[in-house]
Amino acid sequence: EAKREGRNRAASFSWLFKERFNRVHEIETGLRRAIEGQELRLVFQPIVDLENLHIHACEALLRWEHPTLGPIPPSEFIPIAEGMGLIEDITSWVVRHACLAAASWPTDARVAVNISPASLKSAELPGSVIAALLESGLPARRLELEVTESIFLDDSGQANAILRELQRIGLRLALDDFGTGYSSLSYLRSYRFDTLKIDQSFMAGVSANAEDRAIVRAIGSLARDLAMDTVAEGIETLDQLDHARDAGFTNVQGYLFSRPVSCEAVTALIAHGALTPKEESLPVPFPR
Ligand code: C2E
Ligand code: MG
Ligand code: MG
Ligand code: MG
Repeated sequence: EAKREGRNRAASFSWLFKERFNRVHEIETGLRRAIEGQELRLVFQPIVDLENLHIHACEALLRWEHPTLGPIPPSEFIPIAEGMGLIEDITSWVVRHACLAAASWPTDARVAVNISPASLKSAELPGSVIAALLESGLPARRLELEVTESIFLDDSGQANAILRELQRIGLRLALDDFGTGYSSLSYLRSYRFDTLKIDQSFMAGVSANAEDRAIVRAIGSLARDLAMDTVAEGIETLDQLDHARDAGFTNVQGYLFSRPVSCEAVTALIAHGALTPKEESLPVPFPR
């Protein structure tokens, strides 16, 4: 009896393993085609200025609709693309389309683009950024690149040199998901990041935990003293909005104001002016 159970478990384990393997394999073969074809698209999520609730910037987020697997989240396919050496192609695709979109917006709202650590190891990045700015006519100061602390793990100096080159071009730099990784305050001293984005896990806990509230306030006041813009990510409730405000954050981003939406939809939101915070009653299934 026990033996049969063991065998069944082994069989179902190997079935699961095979499923997983097939999925990764399909993603790998699909990615190349996706970059060249029409399967990738960007959605844009407003980043709202707390002073007037106008859209201050929009974050470009990548979406991939696989022909048979359906929507695949970036958290799944980006690491696979990095492993395949395809991340440079994806990054230049994203930067180019984000710049073209932002150039058509009715205000000078910025566009923020996520740059994976692997892309910062490639000397190609500054060239493809410059090409995108020239093609779109977008001024460099309207493009912000979001990087995470993990770029500092590699101490070859390569990421460092590329970041400085991008700053020389006039781009803005944001430190994304701050407070999760290897948070060392020395990064804030050696790089002049324009924007600090506190990780959404802290905002998620702010209503229930005094500890999260303390961390949010400390990060808010630190960033203010360093004259950085601050974005509180993952704001879903009015209570979280109040905490972000009390902590002195300059901007907020989250479902309370808008989910990520198409370029046409975000253009209409930008033109409309101040956004209205609206709590969602039911969670909408990921992803859109
Ligand atoms: P991120 O840069 O921290 O992006 C924020 C994520 O939080 C997005 O998930 C967004 O949809 C989600 N989000 C925004 N507001 C809320 C909220 O109120 N509640 C909750 N629960 N979630 C919210 P998404 O689009 O799935 O992206 C996940 C991550 O994938 C991003 O995290 C980023 O690290 C990466 N990513 C997305 N697009 C790209 C890209 O073009 N290039 C690279 N390299 N990475 C990307
Ligand atoms: Mg981001
Ligand atoms: Mg983030
Ligand atoms: Mg994140």
